[in-house]
Amino acid sequence: MLATAGLDVEYTRGEGNTLYYRRGDDEIAVLDFVGGYGSTLLGHSNPEIIEYARELLAAQTPIHAQFSRHPYANDVANQLNRIVRRELDSDEGYFAIFANSGAEAIEAGLKHAEFERFVRAAGLRAQIEADIEAAREASVPAAEIDALVAEVTAHNEALFAATPLFLSPVGAFHGKLAGSVQLTYNPNYRAVFSALAAQARFVPVDEPGALDEAVRAASQFAKSLVVEGGSVRVVERPFPVFAAVVLEPILGEGGIHEMPAAFTADVGRVAAELGIPVIIDEIQTGMGRTGAFLASSHLGLRGDYYAIAKSLGGGVAKAAVLLVKESRYLSDFELMHSSTFAKDSFSTLIASRVLDILEADARRCSTGRPSGAARSCWRRCARCARSSPTVVRLRARPRPDGGPGVREPGGVGFGGLARGGNASGFFGYYVSGFLLREHNIRTFPTSSAVYTLRFEPSAYIETADIERLAAALRDVCREIRDAGGARLAAIAEAVPHRNSAQTSEEIEE
Ligand code: PMP
Repeated sequence: MLATAGLDVEYTRGEGNTLYYRRGDDEIAVLDFVGGYGSTLLGHSNPEIIEYARELLAAQTPIHAQFSRHPYANDVANQLNRIVRRELDSDEGYFAIFANSGAEAIEAGLKHAEFERFVRAAGLRAQIEADIEAAREASVPAAEIDALVAEVTAHNEALFAATPLFLSPVGAFHGKLAGSVQLTYNPNYRAVFSALAAQARFVPVDEPGALDEAVRAASQFAKSLVVEGGSVRVVERPFPVFAAVVLEPILGEGGIHEMPAAFTADVGRVAAELGIPVIIDEIQTGMGRTGAFLASSHLGLRGDYYAIAKSLGGGVAKAAVLLVKESRYLSDFELMHSSTFAKDSFSTLIASRVLDILEADARRCSTGRPSGAARSCWRRCARCARSSPTVVRLRARPRPDGGPGVREPGGVGFGGLARGGNASGFFGYYVSGFLLREHNIRTFPTSSAVYTLRFEPSAYIETADIERLAAALRDVCREIRDAGGARLAAIAEAVPHRNSAQTSEEIEE
């Protein structure tokens, strides 16, 4: 299927923004805008990281020394705390739970949120038991009380045994493990596995009141007993149905959409009303990707938990962290949740060095303003969109007041929405294949919105690279506008193993 889209290339070397493959005796350089799906913010084979990795291995650093002191993991936790507290202008600290992948960090978050809900539900259960005891003391015939207790108990048993619900935006992507995939909106990834884990209620982010309505529709009440004026009656008590709100500040795989301000305000309010944590997935947007360490801080969105992964490993290690606010952290969690490979010295030491580099080079990653390259990219793509309005649309960053998009570049990158005559889910992959074969440029569509191209280069992208990208995008737009995409189709037809029954997910694999 890679061949179908013209993407079947084996890369043999990577440096900075460039991946190389071999064609005969030649080494072909490809300008990489996929950036390891966001994990190479510091570029491929970043020299400082590679040198440090070499030193660690040469020094026989013990990589797996589980259940001992982990000062290197503490260092990462402390660095993250320093950065996050500074950015959020807050004194509150965060505990760090280490993981091996983004989805795993999210699942740690789901588990911790469920632990919080379990504690709340246990409190409610204790309250109901106390209510029943009090009812039994009342001067009411035993048979009457027994009947009421049976009614209450039968109702509550089903409720307490039910799996929790999570709230997430329509279009969300939070990973593909058993739990996290249920919070990933795309039904192609999720539907088959829905019986395995707790479900999400997906909320459209641009419909006022939708979040409140989702909560209202799923609300449940436990039953209890009260003694009033010598008689006993059944009353309802709110039951903690929801465990958390989970969201990306900018939908990544869902097509690069920044969360509207009205929605983020609703998230904070509703979570506070329900007493549940807001879990912010910064796996793709964090680490300085958008001009702040956390993209959510641009949006005034505050999290109780943050998931960070991808570029934390510097393009070399697999490192992920879940941060949990001190005031919510349940210390028994550390005894309940662990992983052989999480918190290993190699990945945490690399992560620590990555954070040092980001801090030292905050000029690039935490300016809060788009870089010169980002502005240049925007201008060029805007020109391309103006000359091919039927082919490509460029979305501007929404204005905080919800008005029409500003003409300034967002520090959030952009989603170029290309719609050609080909309505198949492969369209974006054909565009990617064309850009690779004809221009030695690597990009992909986002995985759940295949008409949106992703551009996630390293922070060291140069204006000349942007110019190359812009020229290539102009070519692809011209090709679709003037020739109906004939050269895109030619690439698809030139390859031998075409199978139109396969899905875009399989192409992605
Ligand atoms: N959350 C978001 C926002 C992501 O973009 C991704 C990966 N694309 C994940 C979670 C899952 O991360 P991983 O692939 O490392 O499990």
